[in-house]
This record gives sequence, structure tokens and C-alpha cells, in this order.
Amino acid sequence: MNAPVTSLLREDLRDFGGYRSARSEGGHGRIWLNANESPWANAADGGARLRRYPQPQPEALRAALADLYGCRPEQVLAGRGSDEGIDLLLRALCRPGRDAVLVTSPTFGMYAVAARLHGTAVVDVPLCDDGAGFACDFDAVALAAERDDVRIVFLCSPGNPTGALIPLDEILKLAWRLQSRALVVVDEAYIEYAQAPSAISLIDAQDNIAVLRTLSKAHALAAARIGCVIAAPGLIAALQRCQAPYPLPAPCARLAQRALGAAARRRTAAGIDRIVAGRERMQVGLCALPGVTRVYPSRANFLLVRFARPQAALQALLEAGIVVRDLRHLPGLGDALRISIGTPAQNDAVLRALAGAAA
Ligand SMILES: *Cc1c(COP(=O)(O)O)cnc(C)c1O
Repeated sequence: MNAPVTSLLREDLRDFGGYRSARSEGGHGRIWLNANESPWANAADGGARLRRYPQPQPEALRAALADLYGCRPEQVLAGRGSDEGIDLLLRALCRPGRDAVLVTSPTFGMYAVAARLHGTAVVDVPLCDDGAGFACDFDAVALAAERDDVRIVFLCSPGNPTGALIPLDEILKLAWRLQSRALVVVDEAYIEYAQAPSAISLIDAQDNIAVLRTLSKAHALAAARIGCVIAAPGLIAALQRCQAPYPLPAPCARLAQRALGAAARRRTAAGIDRIVAGRERMQVGLCALPGVTRVYPSRANFLLVRFARPQAALQALLEAGIVVRDLRHLPGLGDALRISIGTPAQNDAVLRALAGAAA
């Protein structure tokens, strides 16, 4: 029998109860005078809905997220975007100045930023760019994780900025190999666009897997700042003890709940289909342009594109008023831009601007 994933938590936090807020203490009563709230609403707060501190994890929202992701409510921790999830995982698992996290570059920059702020070393096992695209060397990841006291392996699937999907069986094998040593975190910010199964299905079999999901991308709610960690219930409870007492502003939680209703979910699904169609069209359109040297296959809502003359391409886009992500500062991507898929008209504008640059 293997130790449960909670054995990976920092020893010095094992008996940490977190902050006991007025809300978490609960109780029954008619007159609530335990949280120093104002008895009157603010003039700007028409419905008087903001006078009280919010629930730390609103039950209805948690249930709606569990339903959306096909897991149990006690496996879900909602927070201020997946960014907060990354930060909580680091703080709960890594001893500052001692443990390390592992990333596979090029990847999402927030893993290294959160690690740096927490005083945690970052071990990089770069992806290999073989003929088919960027791929993870899982053997090298496992060896480096075993060698360097790595507590968290951050995988991103589909990858940002690569667009590559990681096979679930590879994630499962890696987690099995690293059990009792490290947590494998799978960031699925873009999985909706891959229309592929989530690593959430692996958690019950292998409890050292955690998944990050967000409402920021496919659900079009980036400004509401709602994301989740999905993991074994024991780990979720420990992460909540490390979280701020009232992480979810009530208006954002209410909005998120509405966004997970049946009608909104149908509209979200239709939007995903349109993005996928746009991505396939842009893949073909960009490949046909003379200045484009490579378009990576993508399962996300963006394309990673290499150019013969990247500065000229960027300039042509800027002159057309189009802003894309410049990746030229990243190792091995000195000629690359990341282009998000927009509306059909926006996508056409990109192709037109780049065709003009190449002419
Ligand atoms: C956009 C993105 C996120 C989303 O972060 P939020 O804090 O939920 O908005 C997470 N991971 C990756 C890889 C991303 O690109």
C-alpha cells in the first residue's frame, strides 16, 4: 500500500488549520453579529447582496463545477483562476529553499514565477521538437524528478505555447513512477478545444495527479477569475487551509454559476466548435503563406507559427492593428509568434496582413 498523496504535504504544515473565519465557524441564528459586517447596504449595492462576507466555497458553485468536470464536489477547490491553484499547490507542497518543481519548456510562465516567489528551485526538462511537434521526454522527466527532490511536476496539456496534447497513459505512467515522491499537475486550461478526455479521470486510480481547469478560456470568463484545482479530497482540504478565507467575490461566484447552466453551456460548446473550425482553417491558410516556415499542430485555441522573417511579420500585423504574442525571447523560438484564434473576420485579417508582408 502506498502512502496517500497527503504525505507529500509540507511536514511543517501537517497540523496547520489555516485561518478560522467567522464564515467557516458557521452556526445558527437570526441576528448575525460575528463578522463585524455593516448592518446596512452600500448605496451602490442595489440588491444588498454584498454586505456580508461570501461563503469560502459556495456549495452550489462547487456542485456545478463538479458536474461540469465529471468529478465529486469534494475533489474541487475553486479559486481566483488557475493562477491561484498553481500558487496554492506550491505553498502546500514545497518547503521554501529546499524542494523543487519541474517544468518542461517552452511552457506557461506562471509555474516558474510562482516558484520564484515561493523560494523554490525550478528544474527544466525541455520538450523535444521532433518532426511531429513538441513532445515530452517522460523518462528524462522522471529521472530529473527523482534526482532533484522535485515535489511538483507541471505538465500543460494542451501545451501553451506548443498546442500539443499529452497522452493520458503517459501521465498515468509518470504519476505511478513518482508516487510517494511528487505530485503530477496537469494544467488543462485549453482541454475544451482538444475535445479529448481529461486527466481528471485518472485521479481516483492515482492520487498523486492534480488537474487545473479554468473558466478563463473556453468559458469566456477571464475577468471573473474562476479556476479550480481538481484532486483527491484530502489534498483539496489541505489546499483550502492554505487559501485566503474569502477567495471568491460573490458577484463572480454567482456569474460562474449562471455560466454553468444548461443554456450557457450549450452556447459555450458552440463557441468551442467555431474556434476548432477556425483553427483548422488558419492552419491551412498560414501554411500556404510564403513567409511561414512552420505551423505546429494545435489542440488549443492558438497556433504556434515560425516565420522566415518574424520581425516583418510582426510589423505587418501591428500595422493592421493586430496584436499577437511575440515568443522570440524564448529559447528555441527566436522566429516564433503565437496567434490566438479569433472570429472568422479577425482570422481573415491575420491572413491578409501576413500575405501582404510576404508579397
Ligand atoms: C491562460 C492559462 C491559464 C489560465 O489561468 P487563469 O488564472 O485561470 O486565468 C492557466 N494555464 C495556462 C497554461 C494558461 O495558458
